[in-house]
Amino acid sequence: MSSPNKAWVTLATNDSYSLGALVLAHSLKTVGTVYKLAILITPGVTAPMKRQIEAVFDEVKVVDVLDSKDQTHLALMCRPELGVTFTKLHCWTFTNYDKCVFLDADTLVLQNCDELFEREELSAAPDPGWPDCFNSGVFVYKPSQDTFSKLLEFARTRGSFDGGDQGLLNMFFKEWSNTDISKHLSFTYNVVWSSTYSYLPALKQFGQNMKIVHFISSSKPWLQSFNTETRLVTSTHGGSGLQELLQLWWDLFCRHVHPGLSTEMGGLAGQ
Ligand code: UDP
Ligand code: MN
Repeated sequence: MSSPNKAWVTLATNDSYSLGALVLAHSLKTVGTVYKLAILITPGVTAPMKRQIEAVFDEVKVVDVLDSKDQTHLALMCRPELGVTFTKLHCWTFTNYDKCVFLDADTLVLQNCDELFEREELSAAPDPGWPDCFNSGVFVYKPSQDTFSKLLEFARTRGSFDGGDQGLLNMFFKEWSNTDISKHLSFTYNVVWSSTYSYLPALKQFGQNMKIVHFISSSKPWLQSFNTETRLVTSTHGGSGLQELLQLWWDLFCRHVHPGLSTEMGGLAGQ
């Protein structure tokens, strides 16, 4: 059964993040989601990569915040540091769906989590760096042109305290921290993985419940070294359990993404 009114949404502004988006899409298909896959891309994504994306995602929306003559461009002129953030805000314009879940391109879905679509806007998991803030790599939202306009206006006039989408969204949806616990997703829906993350006893106790892993900052899978002969990834950032999760990402990449890329690019890509 496929559900036409709800979608997973991600974002890629260049070819590296597109690799993340492609693996993410295959992870969602592997766990058997019934929902659509949608993506925002910008002209920074090359034509061959765009073709790979079109083959996997149900809907591909090209957003060019620099060229647009609308309020987004105006907002960007006031806040040039928020370039990628403004692109991410466009996820609210997918008004052909009544509910969406946004996932950063550096996330990987390990178990089916279609139940997220039962949550209301704005549902998200705490950020380990400051748990009164949510991490904006995974969030449930309701597309709306009106909310989109309000977000742009908010960004233009108020900016973002961290220079990115997380600071902006946390100020806009500031009641998240103290109003409705049903909007607090379990950390298992956004296990933020960084080289400094270390609550090992909790990881041991709850690790098998992990549903979505989020490779923040320098733990990006596509930036690790990968041995094409042994097909093993070697992370310089170590940390318990990270290696295994990076290997899962690379296994999906080798199985589902690399074959298409190498055909497209004459056998050179991804080597
Ligand atoms: N992103 C992108 N191009 C960029 C930077 C970010 O497309 O140059 C998108 C991508 O979907 C990414 C998200 O914005 O996952 C948030 O950035 P990132 O994941 O790098 O931030 P982190 O989670 O490490 O704080
Ligand atoms: Mn991220």
